[in-house]
Amino acid sequence: YHTLRLILGDQLNARHSWFQQKDSGVLYLIAELHQETGYVVHHIQKLCAFFAAMEHFAIALRQAGFQVLHLTLDDTQQDVDLPALLTRLAQQYDVDRIEYQRPDEYRLAQQIADFSVQSAVPVFMVESEHFLLPFDDIPRYFKPKTAVRMEHFYRKMRQRFQVLMNADNEPEGGKWNYDAANRNKLKPADLAAIPAPLCFANDVSHILARLKRHKVKSLGKAEEDLLWPVTRKQSKDLLTYFCEQLLPLFGTFQDAMTAKSEHKWSLYHSRLSFALNAKILHPMQVIQAAVNSYRDNPNIDIAQVEGFVRQILGWREYVRGMYWVNMPDYLAQNALDAQRDLPDYFWTGATKMNCLRHAIGQSLDTAYAHHIQRLMVTGNFCLLTEIEPQQVDAWYLGIYVDALEWVELPNTRGMSQFADGGWIASKPYAASGGYMQKMSDYCTGCHYQVKEKTGPRACPLNSLYWHFMVKHRDRLARNPRIGMIYGNWDKQNEEQKRLVLERAEWCLENLGEL
Ligand code: FAD
Repeated sequence: YHTLRLILGDQLNARHSWFQQKDSGVLYLIAELHQETGYVVHHIQKLCAFFAAMEHFAIALRQAGFQVLHLTLDDTQQDVDLPALLTRLAQQYDVDRIEYQRPDEYRLAQQIADFSVQSAVPVFMVESEHFLLPFDDIPRYFKPKTAVRMEHFYRKMRQRFQVLMNADNEPEGGKWNYDAANRNKLKPADLAAIPAPLCFANDVSHILARLKRHKVKSLGKAEEDLLWPVTRKQSKDLLTYFCEQLLPLFGTFQDAMTAKSEHKWSLYHSRLSFALNAKILHPMQVIQAAVNSYRDNPNIDIAQVEGFVRQILGWREYVRGMYWVNMPDYLAQNALDAQRDLPDYFWTGATKMNCLRHAIGQSLDTAYAHHIQRLMVTGNFCLLTEIEPQQVDAWYLGIYVDALEWVELPNTRGMSQFADGGWIASKPYAASGGYMQKMSDYCTGCHYQVKEKTGPRACPLNSLYWHFMVKHRDRLARNPRIGMIYGNWDKQNEEQKRLVLERAEWCLENLGEL
């Protein structure tokens, strides 16, 4: 072979120009690496999903006539890290050059860049050809340590890629944003209509055995039949299923949460994030499929499709830009000086708070929670209880099947923990029990009383919310989107305020007991 081409586990992009022509002198490398299983404790289903998808990609490439070296943890156990493996293989196959696609994680990008400098064999990088915004354009839209609002970026992306735009370059339907139409609670009458999620049953027993043999630490519930899509066919089927069954009410119930449906964990969400982040699907392919369904199906209104396009053309590309323009500084941000430890129930779900129990429980069971559960249940709780951002990041980076640092970090440390002091969010996503009651039915039957602020049965979120707001008053009161909230606090009598803060202090000192 003259060339060794590295394909990372999240670069399973069959449309990449590498695969447009065949050259028998090129050897493709897909390798399970010990370093990748260990940089954080991953959910067992996440490990299985990546390893199974890598295996299937190797098979598909071989079937298409490419030379592929697929190495398992057994084959790479002697290689201390990725550079060691590349060095060994370059020698073994006597290649003249090594090529790799731009990694999306800073950690890997640095590691391979460092390796390139000292490698005896020349190393070359190509683009991964996945994201819509070219990497080199990131500085045109984002500035380091500077707030950039998603909405502005999103509008530019709509125009740049001409998605849902009229001939006169105006947004289709006349509005850029239909969020106001998209914030509904699921009422009891809505529950029976929630479609069953499309789940696969990929046999991963051999991967589970391998992970066990290599004593890979993991979290969450192991499943021999993995429900996540691991092939291109499955990913496309999931996309089609989404467009037909879920898109008609995607926006409407985007923020809703329920404990009362069999399909409470999936609702109207696409669950395409793994297939997208592993690059099995291309973002424009997903956007086009949704827009085409909207054109063909009179049951899908503009608010639904715009809400979905916004997530992929907007949020997903935006957080990647914010990540790269702020790395590695992002990793050190702790603007609110949060220092507490994450309580044990994040790994067991054993808490009396119904909302947390459901969001954590389903995350442990499926390696998945939808956006509002991540942001407003677990995220809000960590924000209000001042958990150290590094611990919060490690939990999110480990537990979700779609978690890769480029997307996890800005969402967690930025959007949900406000640890960047507002680069991403214009105000902290802090909420009391009232929000939970408005958007979910979690509060019914909870051990705690959502209407109470003080006393041992009061919903912890109520006092913790005010404790947070009071503690950060100097920073937050200047913000016009928050300032008026303090009027509600100031109106309360001193005794009531004292009791609320006392309850919050008790909760913070006894976090593990909640
Ligand atoms: P849907 O609700 O069906 O949305 C469609 C797609 O839009 C998603 O697949 C995703 O690709 C994209 N999308 C939506 N919101 C975002 C967002 N805020 N940022 C980036 N892309 C978005 N997403 C990840 O892919 N990996 C993560 O590690 C991750 N960590 C998160 C941590 C926190 C604290 C929060 C608040 C959000 C996080 N998100 C992450 C974003 C979002 O919650 C998930 O993308 C989404 O829940 C995936 O489920 P879905 O495919 O069913 O999404």
